[in-house]
Amino acid sequence: MHLQFLGAATTVTGSQYLLSTDRARILIDCGMFQGSPNESIRNRIPLAYDPATIDAILLTHAHLDHCGLIPHVVKAGFKGPVWATKGTVELATLVLLDSGKLQEEFAKRQLRRAKHDPERAATFEKRDSAALFAAERLADDGVDGALDPADAAVARAATAGESNDDGGRPPVAIPVGERRQFDDPRVDPGHFGNRRFDAALLVAGPPQEAGGASDPVSSPGPSDLAAAPVTAVGASSAPPTTIARDPEQALVRQPPVLDADLDEPLYDAQDAQAALASFRGIDYDMEIEVAPGIHATYVDAGHILGSAIIRLRVADQDGGPELRLVFSGDLGRTGTPILRDPTVVTDADYVLVESTYGGREHEPEAESNKLLADAVKLVADHDGVLLVPSFAIGRTQEVVWELHRLIEAGQIPLLQLYLDSPMASKASDVYRHHPDYYDAETTALLAAHDAPLDYPKQTITNDVKQSEAIAKAPRPYMIVASNGMLTGGRVVGHLRNLVDDPSAVILFVGYQGEGTLGAHLQAGATTIKLDGEVRRVRCQVRSISGFSAHADESELLAWVGNFATGKAPGGPGWPKTVFIVHGDPDAQAALEPKIRALGLNTHIPLWHEIVELR
Ligand SMILES: [Zn+2]
Repeated sequence: MHLQFLGAATTVTGSQYLLSTDRARILIDCGMFQGSPNESIRNRIPLAYDPATIDAILLTHAHLDHCGLIPHVVKAGFKGPVWATKGTVELATLVLLDSGKLQEEFAKRQLRRAKHDPERAATFEKRDSAALFAAERLADDGVDGALDPADAAVARAATAGESNDDGGRPPVAIPVGERRQFDDPRVDPGHFGNRRFDAALLVAGPPQEAGGASDPVSSPGPSDLAAAPVTAVGASSAPPTTIARDPEQALVRQPPVLDADLDEPLYDAQDAQAALASFRGIDYDMEIEVAPGIHATYVDAGHILGSAIIRLRVADQDGGPELRLVFSGDLGRTGTPILRDPTVVTDADYVLVESTYGGREHEPEAESNKLLADAVKLVADHDGVLLVPSFAIGRTQEVVWELHRLIEAGQIPLLQLYLDSPMASKASDVYRHHPDYYDAETTALLAAHDAPLDYPKQTITNDVKQSEAIAKAPRPYMIVASNGMLTGGRVVGHLRNLVDDPSAVILFVGYQGEGTLGAHLQAGATTIKLDGEVRRVRCQVRSISGFSAHADESELLAWVGNFATGKAPGGPGWPKTVFIVHGDPDAQAALEPKIRALGLNTHIPLWHEIVELR
């Protein structure tokens, strides 16, 4: 069986893994790439599979970077079920409808801009096309992972005529509907769109099985790079292997070249609504067969409401040997408010672990609360404004929960709070409807007739007018608004008003992705570019990492360490490889040696890399 890393590989967004066996194919997560333009353009490269051949999608949780491409894949022909916990189904409904709407709005804005200033629009289009080209090359390099770099270079040089080095036409995306279909579900029809850029970029071949039954679609040709040695991953006795590709087949599968508009929405609200019909709610700890020979159990990941670690039992053949795979999804923190702690899992053949906070530790809970209280007191003393950019789901509920506790403990004055995120207030409703997911502390508060998710002096804004009116409200006050990395949403409007106001405090409570405005501010930028205009940063910028919905390095290591504790290396339940995913390269590089120090083999997969699991 094979696993392909189609997202969250050496980056934190776009989670998507394709698991293929002799008789089934499933996706684990199907997330959107977010953040900088170079990252989000990855959503536009052709799908690496024919969606009609996918039996099921298993969704760990409702964040957009885990579920955001599901409507795109459904639109492209996926017909199976999307399995998720009931809480995730409810939250994903909000997230996907919002995403469809935002994409429609974005497309309309682009169109208006293009009419208004065609020259600027052309510049942006050129930039996007260049970014798309780079993304496709990167994806191909990932599939090339097993090849000796020299071989790959030779193969590329041999087909340089196919490359896009002529500086002429920009690269284009190939609409999914135009791709050739293949009967063999094991053959990956992906990368169809890449051929005109680099014909040496090979389509992932079928499994290189012992005994080598010939396969008409993928039988090696004379210039076959599949003859290149299969590279072992990790140092285990039964390592996964990266699959080499066949250049002949890459050429055979070259599709017709078609132009696609990069400003078109990937999907609209109607597509999102249609995709939601595929969702099936399941309970934690109940095993179900999601595809022939693939049994899944969802256990609590403690990250956001409904979030899950997914455990799989996978057998290539009926009654054949089984492998156990564990996908961490996003791991929450132990001891955080509202939700239960991440589940301890102890046995697996292969583990995928997220690494968002590799190399970093969150401050202790008491310290986080003190930092929050200090920021509130600071704006109270100076008639200022506290702006908290926050992810609508999870973080917002947690910050409100903590503010409420701090008021009850008499540690902060009762300031007016504006919850300026329609999605956050809807998500809070979902949280309120699911006390079954609460931890003991929050359950006890609820039993004592407290309303743990409500702040005593809050105003929830419903439309843009109300959002804009906040600027005229009497100070001091607080705003919690989405999104958390300042890459869009209402928070950007507030930033516009407050960035050069010395009595304002911007308080980051979550992860800031590489290249985002949030990351620049957090790193101490003295000027930023807003709406194309350079603005001085005169507000205060502070950060709290302890409200993160993600485990820090110690917590990640403790969770992974459970697979090694009390076992003999290589014995039953000892993972053959731990794949480190969902992290920026620095974080992954910091975490890897520490996981190895536990005695476990590790591998940091490249984007689109395919490994054989056995
Ligand atoms: Zn998440």
